[in-house]
Amino acid sequence: MRGTVLYSPGDVRFEDQEDPRIQAPTDAIIRTSATCVCRSDLWPYRGLQPINGPTPMGHEYCGVVEEVGRDVKSVQPGQFVVGSFATSDNTCPNCRYGYQSSCVHREFMNRAQAPMLRVPLADGTLVATADHPPADLVPSLLATSDVLGTGWFAADAASVKPGATVVVVGDGAVGLLGVLSARQMGAERIIAMSRHEARQRLAREFGATDIVAERGDEGVQRILDMTQGIGADSVLECVGTQQSMMQAIHCTRRGGHVSYVGVPHEVELHGTELFYSHVHLHGGPAPVRRYLPLLIDLVLQGKINPGKVFDLVLPLEQVAAGYRAMDERRAIKVLLQP
Ligand SMILES: [Zn+2]
Repeated sequence: MRGTVLYSPGDVRFEDQEDPRIQAPTDAIIRTSATCVCRSDLWPYRGLQPINGPTPMGHEYCGVVEEVGRDVKSVQPGQFVVGSFATSDNTCPNCRYGYQSSCVHREFMNRAQAPMLRVPLADGTLVATADHPPADLVPSLLATSDVLGTGWFAADAASVKPGATVVVVGDGAVGLLGVLSARQMGAERIIAMSRHEARQRLAREFGATDIVAERGDEGVQRILDMTQGIGADSVLECVGTQQSMMQAIHCTRRGGHVSYVGVPHEVELHGTELFYSHVHLHGGPAPVRRYLPLLIDLVLQGKINPGKVFDLVLPLEQVAAGYRAMDERRAIKVLLQP
């Protein structure tokens, strides 16, 4: 088969690779129905995160099980499955506490931008649907495997409650789906911080009540003006830069909650500032597996349509064009069809 490999910044190739095969009795092999480019793939693509030689890419996937190892019990060949970007046994203490993305046996998935994929710890990582879903639901099911799961965690970790005022920093797919998640959790006012018209539109469609285009100190001032100078109850930081993190903390009311789900790049927090900010901080790699059964149900029942974040669909072999489109911000998120 052919799969996606990043050679150096800007150099993505779709090239011959060995077919994946069962390596451990807990593995499954799946045939991917759809995969996509993640904004976190852009860090190494832009040279902002070093890579050690040619690196296989992709960690978002759904598809049909081809083969399972002899110890796999919960999924079987022929089933449609969705999995998380982090593998988990779903039995260790961290998993039982709901932090499957810190499973003691965790591996981060890669190689998903390919037609076939090996998934370790299949029983604890994959969730099967009862039937094969209709094709028009596949993008939304794919979204549950990372961006929706991460947006949902962002809202959950920021303790979004019915009636809350919520701010979402970041208008990438995760931020937009953080808006959707906050809406599902009953937030009353959802302020999306975005400067891009298409993303503002989608944010409103997902449930944003207000848009703030300013950033940094100006953005913070706008939020304070909108909240009687007090700040928001829950702020979702979905970018991972110093500016976005500080923006999030400064938009939050005393006693409020900040979640952070964008992989931090050179973010530094100062103790004194944190001390006086009086906020709760909770974030990290989203334990998507915790939410998968719920999110898959919401999609299958037609209650949410997170697949709308995919505004460009390309054949998998054009993956390099997909990276370019996201790098140049011509696309929010690119779906790749094997
Ligand atoms: Zn575990």
